[in-house]
Amino acid sequence: TDTPVTVIGLGLMGQALAGAFLKAGHPTTVWNRTTSKADAVVAGGARLAPTVGDALEAGSLTIICVTDYQAVRELFGASDVGLDGTTLVNLTSGDSAQARETARWAEQRGARYLDGAIMAVPPAIGTAEAVILHSGSEADFEAHKSTLGALGTVTYLGADHGLASLYDVAGLAMMWSVLNAWLQGTALLGTAGVDAATYAPFAQRIAAGVAEWLPGYARQIDSGSFPAEVSALETDARAMAHLIEESEAVGVNAELPKLIKAMADRSIAAGHGGEQYPVLIEEFGKPSGD
Ligand code: NDP
Repeated sequence: TDTPVTVIGLGLMGQALAGAFLKAGHPTTVWNRTTSKADAVVAGGARLAPTVGDALEAGSLTIICVTDYQAVRELFGASDVGLDGTTLVNLTSGDSAQARETARWAEQRGARYLDGAIMAVPPAIGTAEAVILHSGSEADFEAHKSTLGALGTVTYLGADHGLASLYDVAGLAMMWSVLNAWLQGTALLGTAGVDAATYAPFAQRIAAGVAEWLPGYARQIDSGSFPAEVSALETDARAMAHLIEESEAVGVNAELPKLIKAMADRSIAAGHGGEQYPVLIEEFGKPSGD
């Protein structure tokens, strides 16, 4: 807890990160373009550095959390900002290509670089509920794991710097798919006077049950073999048609089921109707509309 840390970027998230380090007892140096945003963390014991360069020199570890990667490059691109010998942990949201590119750029300038993604809102930072993903050198992660642990549940994903961003968006895809499916069902049942609270526990059991299938289905995907052990894709496609018809008949939105059925239809047209649902990975694994 006596490891000095630096936090650059004091927006909503950066202030929460600095606050969690302070709470864990780390001497914390901060910097923000708009100085006034440092007031709260300075009142909490942080030191405000006069320049980015000064902030970098203060900590053995520098956390960056600004709007986007362009802001990161603007901040550290200035010729008077020395990165040699620093360790940067970039928790700014971005895509995998930006993460890999920024890693190369920082490493060429002599920095150690870990990328990261925050899967939490600012109030959760500093609790186990805040999931923070890291990718880059495992040795660098291990060296700072306990310090980073002040921020939440930290997870190391692998040496490829792009992994944190990819897991981040994969998690969002999962989250929205579950929520959207639930909203579709809630709208359908709403037409029969069933309220959302009545349907929610039923939906929860289905979502949890389906989640149990993932490891087995993953084995089919990884082996590239999709025998229809419980159901063939064309059986699912008929149920999809039924969902679309029912949605239209009771006057609720059918766009989402139509989208899913269009993918299944393409897969069936390609000869996969007799195989099991995860064969759709072939549709998901190529560019849209191909
Ligand atoms: P805010 O808009 O509150 O803060 C943005 C920060 O970026 C400010 O410190 C701002 O400085 C700084 N900044 C932007 N452009 C520049 C620049 N060109 N040069 C220097 N500083 C710059 O955003 P958040 O704190 O909410 O988000 C920060 C990052 O965290 C984002 O990538 C976001 O996606 C991610 N994140 C946020 C979550 C949330 O719930 N808030 C959840 C998960 C991830 P200034 O104060 O001077 O404008």
